[in-house]
Amino acid sequence: MKDLDKRVRQLERILALNVEIVSNPQQSSLLTKIAQTAAELTESESASILLLDDRTGDLRFCAAATEEITPLLSRIPVPVTHSIAGKVLQEREPAVVHDVRADPRHFREVGQAIGFETRSLLAVPLQVQERCIGVLEAVNKRSGLFTEEDKEILTILAAQAAVAIENARLVEALQEAHRKLQELDRLKSDFITIASHELRTPLSLVLGYASLLQEQQRGSREVEGVLRAAVRLQHIIETMVNLQYLETGELPFRYEEFNLGEEILLACQTHAPLAEASGLTLDAVVPQEPIWIRADREKIRLVLDNLLSNAIKFTPAGGRVRVKLEERYGNAEITVTDTGVGIPQKDLDRIFERFYQVESPMTRRRGGLGLGLPIVREIVEKHGGRVWAESVLGQGSRFIVRLPLASSR
Ligand code: ADP
Repeated sequence: MKDLDKRVRQLERILALNVEIVSNPQQSSLLTKIAQTAAELTESESASILLLDDRTGDLRFCAAATEEITPLLSRIPVPVTHSIAGKVLQEREPAVVHDVRADPRHFREVGQAIGFETRSLLAVPLQVQERCIGVLEAVNKRSGLFTEEDKEILTILAAQAAVAIENARLVEALQEAHRKLQELDRLKSDFITIASHELRTPLSLVLGYASLLQEQQRGSREVEGVLRAAVRLQHIIETMVNLQYLETGELPFRYEEFNLGEEILLACQTHAPLAEASGLTLDAVVPQEPIWIRADREKIRLVLDNLLSNAIKFTPAGGRVRVKLEERYGNAEITVTDTGVGIPQKDLDRIFERFYQVESPMTRRRGGLGLGLPIVREIVEKHGGRVWAESVLGQGSRFIVRLPLASSR
């Protein structure tokens, strides 16, 4: 009965530790706690965790039941070839040594360095999947010899330590990946800022001279070509600057109440010649009753222009582009549907990222910077709305914009 009680208490401790590992994957003090529990449950004077240092090939102490000595211990490399822990690591089997003095593999330097005499030792391997990453050892059984039960407990704790270490490693790898992504994002922003500023001044000179030349040499196709190219370049730079300012909040919003249906019809009128030249049908389905929103009219127009020009750009001749406006669940909902090339499922969210394009930039047949949709999302979200895409590859795409209705109406 007493044995059973003891066993239950031990299992309770192990379970509590498990809960802690799962809920605090990052906590480094967890390993100390595991070492302390190992010492306590095996009734030993101390316990420690050693991990294989991939760089040097030695074992290193990373936690000990007596937390204060861990920094001292961690400075002493333990050679895999000349230690009991090393043997356990290599053979992946637990080892019980009742009298270390009789074992030639015992590595004495540790005890000498910290003034601690090791008499007996129980060591088990720490395994993560197929890899053995270290050793958990209990030192100096307080009375009697290490038992099979001690070995069992230490093996369970070693499995827990392995999970904790692996969790911490995964969290660290994730944080590192996140940090790199943030850095990449920052580089992109810096690039946009620098490129657009550096290009603006020379470009305004080119534009100025080209306009002057155009006045002097009316009808010259070369001059017109230069002017068209410069205006296009200016448009690209403005797009980059706009996105940057939108994101930093430097682009002011001028709110007014207007009928969204009217704005949609105007946008369709503007795009009609392009649709016709591309051999497409473009139509708008807008309700008779006005749908009022409170928004920055120019920016909403930018949203419509971007979605329409994409729909036209990615739909082959003979296709159709339709813009529909409805009132749904207290929102204004715009749907731009095309019968174009479509978008793979895996890219549906990513196309709203800066510079992301489904086709590789090297093989792309259609022009574009990959900034239109990020601008759309930024504007829509700044208005408290949402935008997303749905698509069937090869059959067409649908972009849905949901904007809150003007509350006063
Ligand atoms: P751009 O059109 O300048 O490339 P966008 O940010 O507007 O940049 O769009 C990003 C990418 O999303 C496009 O390159 C294209 O791959 C995809 N895309 C956007 N709209 C459509 C659409 N209507 N049909 C198919 N693909 C689209």
